[in-house]
Amino acid sequence: MMQPQIILLKEGTDSSQGVPQIVSNINACGAIADAVRTTLGPRGMDKLIVDNSGKATISNDGATILKTLDIVHPAARTLVDIAKSQDAEVGDGTTSVVLLAGEFLKQAKPYIEEGVHPQVVIRAFRRAAALAVDKVKELAVQIKKSDPEEQKSMLLKCASTSLSSKLVAHQKEFFSKMVVDAVLMLDELLPLNMIGIKKITGGALEDSRLVDGVAFKKTFSYAGFEMQPKSYSDPKIALLNVELELKAEKENAEIRIDNVTEYQKIVDAEWKILYDKLEKIHLSGAKVVLSKLPIGDVATQYFADRDMFCAGRVVEEDLRRTMKACGGSIQTSVGNLKNNVLGTCQKFEEIQVGGDRYNLFTGCPQAKTCTLLLRGGAEQFIEETERSLHDAIMIVRRAMKNDAVVAGGGAIEMELSKYLRDCSRTIAGKEQLLMGAMAKAFEVIPRQLCENAGFDATNILNKLRQSHAQGGRWFGVDILNEDIADNYEAFVWEPSVVKINAITAAAEATCLILSVDETIRNPKSSQEGGGGPPGRGRGRPM
Ligand code: ADP
Ligand code: MG
Repeated sequence: MMQPQIILLKEGTDSSQGVPQIVSNINACGAIADAVRTTLGPRGMDKLIVDNSGKATISNDGATILKTLDIVHPAARTLVDIAKSQDAEVGDGTTSVVLLAGEFLKQAKPYIEEGVHPQVVIRAFRRAAALAVDKVKELAVQIKKSDPEEQKSMLLKCASTSLSSKLVAHQKEFFSKMVVDAVLMLDELLPLNMIGIKKITGGALEDSRLVDGVAFKKTFSYAGFEMQPKSYSDPKIALLNVELELKAEKENAEIRIDNVTEYQKIVDAEWKILYDKLEKIHLSGAKVVLSKLPIGDVATQYFADRDMFCAGRVVEEDLRRTMKACGGSIQTSVGNLKNNVLGTCQKFEEIQVGGDRYNLFTGCPQAKTCTLLLRGGAEQFIEETERSLHDAIMIVRRAMKNDAVVAGGGAIEMELSKYLRDCSRTIAGKEQLLMGAMAKAFEVIPRQLCENAGFDATNILNKLRQSHAQGGRWFGVDILNEDIADNYEAFVWEPSVVKINAITAAAEATCLILSVDETIRNPKSSQEGGGGPPGRGRGRPM
């Protein structure tokens, strides 16, 4: 008699398991790595991604590319996540981390296919990754913090290495100086949100400038503003969340009237309310009045007559930054404009940048802050410049907190590869082969750097292996001369945390993917979520 079939899961459930499932996940991750492969390094190419609303993004940054791609494969999303976390944690090395994870998996694939248990691979990889991280810590060169000159030159080198693989590589000296100056202006905690970045289309990249204070665009100018002074020293600054416009009161009350005189009374009352407010502001002694809400033409004219400056509709973030930098607090009424709620700064001025007017507050007493005004031709270009500078800023912050550096351009990866290969010789059993596989995987970085530059990768890698075997620990790819060079001497420096984080994250992702041997997709969630994990595509922020 035939046995009845046992049904565990709902009809239509798609489940695949076992070795084929692991291999298929590895292949998916390989495809992700291939998507960003060509962007690595100074000679890497950029990607132009057009999303479904037609917005074009040009980028060289691994995390940005993967975020924009909207990947749905559940295992491959792991790689997107490590790129994002690398971006959040250290800010740079996002392409490298994806490539490393992809290569670890690729090296593991033949062993999995031949029937080595995934847990054996995982154990070996974990051990190798821990050894590699320890080795990076051991190799990293400490830079003396006590010497400001030396520290600054170290920061400049890290910033310029980070920028050398970006669209703005030609201007890397200009921008690395700007980035380092910007970070040095901050206080000890180096808060990222105290560096404002404003993008202004037009002009050349070199017209970009660094303002040591707050700067923001004036969104609205009413009649009368031409008469206002455009520059003050040591002004008092009123920060308001108050609407200074005539029509303001009519939304607050409903009044029924039946003759003209009463209407006139109401109009007069409205004027009086407005003038009362304006007078209080004037009497407070404030010279610069900023408000989140509109400041209308009557108010603008009133302030202009009294040698005061005003700007309405200031973006909340800018107003907060002004408050943090200049002191004072944001007021929702004008009843209590005492000195302690007014901010101040050494110099206020309004200047013309491109087609826009900018308000600049410099010499701020309270918080250390600065603003980058970026100029450039196309919008996409400025946006990519902003992302590149963000990477460099993160790198400089990292390097300040943690002042150990290693040489880039594949040098540290080659040294790790050699070290792991040496270590593997000392252990017996399957683990030896697996650690050797990981050693081989590290070579992906220098190989890809060569390939992206059009070099003969086999030839250069042979030279690198040879020089590392002879003790040249900082030898890496020389991008300019199609050769190898001591990249420590050549000042291709990267903070060691970038590498440590990349190795740990890539190894974790590899182990995670290898440990998944079954994907079960139940029919309901695949209908709703379009195949992704449940919850996606329903307005949840990603
Ligand atoms: P990631 O997103 O991983 O930072 P990048 O495209 O920025 O990717 O490339 C970084 C790689 O390029 C690093 O391995 C770094 O060492 C290498 N690199 C940067 N500048 C140079 C240089 N001048 N010469 C050789 N390699 C470089
Ligand atoms: Mg980079």
